Amino acid sequence: MAPARYDISRAELAVLLEGEPRYRVDQVWDGLYRQLIGPEQMTALPKTLRDRLSASEALAPALRQLDCVSADRGATRKWLWELHDGARIETVLMEYDRRSTVCVSSQAGCAMGCGFCATGQAGFVRNLTSGEIVEQVVNAGAVRAGAVLAGAVRAGAVRAGASGGTPARPANVVFMGMGEPLANYPRVWAAVERMHSDLGISARHITVSTVGIVPGINRLAEESLPVNLAVSLHAANDVLRDELVPINKRYPLAELIGACRAYLRAKGRRLSFEWALISGVNDRPEDAAELAALAGSLGAHVNLIPLNPTPGWPAVGSSPARVRTFRDRLVSLGVNATVRRNRGTDIDAACGQLAAGTGRLTA
Ligand code: SAH
Ligand code: SF4
Repeated sequence: MAPARYDISRAELAVLLEGEPRYRVDQVWDGLYRQLIGPEQMTALPKTLRDRLSASEALAPALRQLDCVSADRGATRKWLWELHDGARIETVLMEYDRRSTVCVSSQAGCAMGCGFCATGQAGFVRNLTSGEIVEQVVNAGAVRAGAVLAGAVRAGAVRAGASGGTPARPANVVFMGMGEPLANYPRVWAAVERMHSDLGISARHITVSTVGIVPGINRLAEESLPVNLAVSLHAANDVLRDELVPINKRYPLAELIGACRAYLRAKGRRLSFEWALISGVNDRPEDAAELAALAGSLGAHVNLIPLNPTPGWPAVGSSPARVRTFRDRLVSLGVNATVRRNRGTDIDAACGQLAAGTGRLTA
């Protein structure tokens, strides 16, 4: 596969810039990772070089925008991108309280087959490259830079945004878009390292969400960067979890919880459990009690989100009243639980709800 703009290494860029003054490497790298611009916008470069780099395959962007929709008065945006081979992925940017979180896809489609998930229903297409993952963060940041810049102009400032005081890159990255990040481990990890070292996003602002791939969690525990771990639990007994999350048959709860415990010991990072509340299925008092026992034993935070409806799954999300009751029960059992606001449901933009509206994952 042809390497794209955010796949190439600094050494490969240096080769591309052979014959140019050495500082050009830093200049272009700075443009890509700090100013979040492509070579065609790098006006500090001589025109001939700019033209040569803009025409270079190795620096071609990996994502072509097919669609961008916004909700919550612009606070939530969702992009649909087409990749060079026609595969399609989505990215969501959420802004609240001056913090921004970008929800990235790690695969086109997903092979894990969770029945309630739109991505799972559509099946697996392919792994993303690390550059395709990083570029989602960069593009979300570039849009923010535009917003920051527009605000600065209104306020009479000369230049803020990408290269100025306010960093435009998103503050937080969550791997909760399409795909199972730990099933695409090497590329996801290379993307995490790039985000950390070149985009300047610290590990504690990066969250890897997994359906529970135990060997992947073990591998994460050995990395030097301590990212946050979110585990999509949804059920706290094997019978129900086997049904909701088929990979549980391969990595049952006892093993999964063991891996979470080892991760906590190794990294000291906060662990969170994701729990999509499905009416009458996993929102009963006994479900809360089972979940509280597991979460309590690990000091895990629980994120509750009412199940988003998808075309291929008959169950419905819990009503607001049942969500509240479930949350209150967890809290009374000593568990730290919050209800995730269901952002952008009107544009199908909530994380984990991706690809529903597009129907097809390839051109
Ligand atoms: N594959 C990873 C990350 C992507 S899914 C994982 O499963 O963790 C991101 C989150 O969205 C997961 O917690 C997933 O369970 C959740 N999700 C998927 N479909 C959903 C739906 N229809 N309603 C609510 N949450 C959903
Ligand atoms: Fe894949 Fe996560 Fe969806 Fe399950 S919930 S099918 S692991 S993207």
